[in-house]
Amino acid sequence: MLDDDEPALTPEIIELCRWAAEYYIAPLGEMLRTALPANMSARGRREVVLVAEDPSRTLDSDLPLINELRKRPLPLATIFQEMRVPRSAIDRLRDAGIIAVRDRLQDAKGVRYDRFVVFETAPDLLKGKQLEAVELLQSRGGEMSVRALENAGIGASTLSTLARKEIVRIERRPRRHTLDAFLAGLDPGSISEFRYSAEQRAAIDAVMTSLGTFAPFLIEGVTGSGKTEVYIELMREVVKRGEQALLLVPEISLTPVFAARLKERFGDRIAILHSSLSPSERYDQWWRARRGEVDVAIGPRSALFTPFPRLGLIVVDEEGDGAYKQEETPRYNARDLAVVRAQSRKIPIVLGSATPSLESRENAAKGKYTLIKMLSRVEARPLPDVEVLDLRKEKGEKEDRGFVIFSSTLREALRQTFALGEQAIILINRRGYAPFLLCRECGHEFRCHDCSVTLTVHRREGILLCHYCGFRTRIPAKCPLCSGEVLQPVGFGTEKVEERFRRDFPEVPVEVLDRDSTRKKGELVRILDRFRTQQTQALIGTQMLSKGHHFPNVTLTGVLNADSILGYPDFRSAEKTFYLLTQVAGRAGRGELRGKVMIQTAFPMHYAIQHALRHDYEAFYESEIQFRRTFHYPPVTSMIALVFRGEKLPDVEKAAIESGRRIEEAVAPLAGTRMQGPAPAPLARIKGVWRYHILIRSPHRVSLRRAIETAMLGKKWKGVDVAIDVDPLNML
Ligand code: ADP
Ligand code: ZN
Repeated sequence: MLDDDEPALTPEIIELCRWAAEYYIAPLGEMLRTALPANMSARGRREVVLVAEDPSRTLDSDLPLINELRKRPLPLATIFQEMRVPRSAIDRLRDAGIIAVRDRLQDAKGVRYDRFVVFETAPDLLKGKQLEAVELLQSRGGEMSVRALENAGIGASTLSTLARKEIVRIERRPRRHTLDAFLAGLDPGSISEFRYSAEQRAAIDAVMTSLGTFAPFLIEGVTGSGKTEVYIELMREVVKRGEQALLLVPEISLTPVFAARLKERFGDRIAILHSSLSPSERYDQWWRARRGEVDVAIGPRSALFTPFPRLGLIVVDEEGDGAYKQEETPRYNARDLAVVRAQSRKIPIVLGSATPSLESRENAAKGKYTLIKMLSRVEARPLPDVEVLDLRKEKGEKEDRGFVIFSSTLREALRQTFALGEQAIILINRRGYAPFLLCRECGHEFRCHDCSVTLTVHRREGILLCHYCGFRTRIPAKCPLCSGEVLQPVGFGTEKVEERFRRDFPEVPVEVLDRDSTRKKGELVRILDRFRTQQTQALIGTQMLSKGHHFPNVTLTGVLNADSILGYPDFRSAEKTFYLLTQVAGRAGRGELRGKVMIQTAFPMHYAIQHALRHDYEAFYESEIQFRRTFHYPPVTSMIALVFRGEKLPDVEKAAIESGRRIEEAVAPLAGTRMQGPAPAPLARIKGVWRYHILIRSPHRVSLRRAIETAMLGKKWKGVDVAIDVDPLNML
């Protein structure tokens, strides 16, 4: 079967895209493109195929075209422009049923093709190689790749002779891929038979009774409560009913072991849409789902558009994770669209997290979602002890200029952990050596020319690097302003933590897990593997390390700068901090051994930290929703952000101010609507582009969207790009 014979997007997905385009005030075309596998152009080329030859209804002038079409389908453009066939001829031939015009998706960039030989008609009196080829083909069910035939000693000339005699047909097909390379060497962990806990059973039963109807569930389950097993069991039930299941995860490359576990349960009937797939692999996975060759798909936000014909269940794991939001046009949130898809398909949807987003938890409070709580870890394993270390009471080492990397308490705890042969994770939310370089003489700090941020010191590479635009320059020997020769890295990132760790614990094997150390393909899996098999005893990592992993021998997790997020000008900074700390705490003590988490902070009494300390999501939710109510922030209000970007500051300013005026007028009738800005965004410049923003909050969700849409409809400014962000997550 040739893939271009089928329409690429199912009506269900097209409908979903339509809904999303309207809700997110985004162009439908962009939305449709997002729904297709990477690099596949939705616009498509139109082409002409020969359907049935009928000499009685063709003119002599049609013959050159028909002859060409006999060999292969031709793009319409070629027919009009190169062959100079008039449009009227095409219409006539089409009406006569001789040819057909169809949309053909442009070849996805990077997709590899294999040529296949398909046996067609029974030959009479073949000899030698030709006979050999036909017999081989027949013995293999009538189809083989050209390569396989060549390996069997059948050359290209034999094949083309057979093709000319129409004994075989040669087809080009997108290459098929297996997931074996991705999963190679992964141990899915022992899946011993176990009995579901009462909480797991209750969760499974609740969702099971809703199969076949739209029913949204929010599973609020502490880390290690066995949510993943609940998802897997539900997916199995759905597959048993002959339906398909979709599991969305924030970033699957971070959880290859999880993928391996699923693969073990569902065998080859699973599509894994992880981000390190090549375009060719992605394309293949997508089509396998489209053709119903798989029952289960797991992937990041774009996997929401998997064209399953009989979708029976959607699960969104870590539903509060920011990775579900696409931060470029179309700016959709896959978690929210998943609910929309479930509603239109009339199927249940399960949102799960240890730290649900305020949005989802509030929906549960209002009765829109059914709340399922899973409050204890399986097999009554205890949650790790969390201890807060007050940085204000610590004295930093002199060379660290007031910064504390390892407090004395944390250092001692690490020492004890290693002495027992156990493992530790150290979390530091910043890569590189230090976030900036300072001239001790004149106080000059090195900043990016194109972005409003300082350059990060990467000492091993000997460079200053902009983490926003990638600008890099060698670490200078002296200050360009005053020629001072003492240039001091200030603050610390993974690289410096590693340096300090090696000094303090020279005998402990350690590795770093961050974007720099995992740039090489496969390196991420290898680093995690060495840690899991205890070849390394400590792992220093960024946020990449806080999710999903399961290391039974880890008994201590240290968080070095828990405050880094709290300082952001973002109304969600407490939520993000609580989320991060809870995720991190969830990594510790998942095996037989009791775990401990130590959080270094200068704000030990902050409620996000205090509630994380007690693993008390509900208490956090109560405090946080109160804050949102008092200050009219989502989910109590609905928010739309507009970001104006351009290379010339006056242009950007003008566009923002004009829009601000229009919007102010448009929202005036909506009581309780608040507007902040226009003002420079907190990151006022990125990659040489100036940024202004306007934030609008209102209790009237639908009217707000309409007002903004009307105010901005058709508005364009030269050199300024306007992004409308509905339900924004990123406030910078
Ligand atoms: P969560 O997703 O809530 O963090 P998981 O589903 O990953 O939790 O479960 C944590 C660990 O406990 C996994 O290793 C899993 O295989 C195991 N597990 C899950 N359910 C049970 C159970 N009922 N009995 C024993 N072990 C279980
Ligand atoms: Zn920059």
